[in-house]
Amino acid sequence: MMTIVCSWRCKCGARIKAVGESRKHDPMGTSVAECPQCREPQMINCKVIKSVTVEKEESVADSLSK
Ligand SMILES: [Zn+2]
Repeated sequence: MMTIVCSWRCKCGARIKAVGESRKHDPMGTSVAECPQCREPQMINCKVIKSVTVEKEESVADSLSK
């Protein structure tokens, strides 16, 4: 199994990070990860979703405001 890490910004503004697994000989599978905050689905190119987390990015917002 290969570990797939995918991150995106949800339409609710959250930065989401999903960790999944995919088989090397069958890399075309897709799974749906849901945003933990608003349940917006997102397609991920992996067989199994292992975890979906919201990443904190307060430090990024601080650096942009300076
Ligand atoms: Zn969301």
